[in-house]
Amino acid sequence: MDKIILTGDRPTGRLHIGHYVGSLRRRVELQNSGEYKKTFIMIADAQALTDNIENPEKIRQNIIEVALDYLACGLDPAKSTLFIQSQIPELCELTFYYMDLVTVSRLQRNPTVKSEIQMRNFEASIPVGFFTYPISQAADITAFKATTVPVGDDQLPMIEQTKEIVHKFNSVYKPVLVEPKALLPSNDACMRLPGVDGKAKMSKSLGNCIYLADSADDVSNTILRKMYTDPQHLRVEDPGHLEGNMVFTYLDAFCKEEHFERYLPEYANLDELKGHYTRGGLGDMKVKRFLNSVLQEELEPIRQRRKEWEKDIPAIYEILKKGSETAREVAAQTLSEVKSAMRINYFEDEELIRAQAAKYEA
Ligand code: ATP
Ligand code: MG
Repeated sequence: MDKIILTGDRPTGRLHIGHYVGSLRRRVELQNSGEYKKTFIMIADAQALTDNIENPEKIRQNIIEVALDYLACGLDPAKSTLFIQSQIPELCELTFYYMDLVTVSRLQRNPTVKSEIQMRNFEASIPVGFFTYPISQAADITAFKATTVPVGDDQLPMIEQTKEIVHKFNSVYKPVLVEPKALLPSNDACMRLPGVDGKAKMSKSLGNCIYLADSADDVSNTILRKMYTDPQHLRVEDPGHLEGNMVFTYLDAFCKEEHFERYLPEYANLDELKGHYTRGGLGDMKVKRFLNSVLQEELEPIRQRRKEWEKDIPAIYEILKKGSETAREVAAQTLSEVKSAMRINYFEDEELIRAQAAKYEA
């Protein structure tokens, strides 16, 4: 079976380094690996509207921001199809039919949706569209017959829900849909990168981010002045703690051995640095400066590429338009197979028309 990637992001703000380690960095590697027949990258504007219905302008403005971040990170329109969800009406049609395959109580059990409802104070008044977004996500994934979905671990319940829909559809109707697999980052820090404030997840909605487009000064300011470390590590000689210490969590996500040679040659690797910190005698500032060098090295080329693309915004809209046309053709093909499996393809079914006619001839 052909290996196909689908993944995406909500255009609710610029992308941050949590997106980068959780999904974006891996997408670029996969795109360039040659292992995948197709890569689809979706800007999920329709999904973003489910909890931003009063703020459509925010979504409209952020489409280009997300696209710029994609291109800056190295997603290549010659290799990946970049498209906008709302421009593919077939996705709504699929969602509508999949709704019949899912129960309300199953949706209520989704742990990610549960915590997102809490975070948005939606308890008393959940928009139906928000409540059902895992179904629309199943439509997005299956429309492209995606086998592989590179995401952070908050998305696992969505992939689970998609698999259930695929299984149900294929057993009730015909085996048309493909079961996807989540592709998670390889280490815990990348799975769900916490915010600079130490909160569980770096998230646009929580305002605790380092954005890919932040200037070098903004990044060093955030790291050197704001980043949460170990509150008990008051004097340099005190033993420090690694758990909940953002500086070390971010080093887990970004640091490679070669960074030590370049920026901190008195240590061979991260384990040695951690050892010294926990024994005591290593100050936060020194570790923070090291993290700053590591992050700046990774982010600088992304910033430079973004600046280049910023000079040609109309070309980016053209890329998204072309991508949306390509994506639409693929989704339309799947929808047609779905409708035929569901026996709602009346006008293409000459056998049906003949048989009905025969019934009345007798
Ligand atoms: P919002 O607050 O609008 O939901 P978000 O910051 O959660 O925004 P999404 O667009 O919902 O971002 O997520 C896009 C992708 O990035 C998903 O695959 C998600 O798993 C991944 N992701 C988001 N935040 C993080 C994070 N802090 N660490 C790792 N992966 C993340
Ligand atoms: Mg989210």
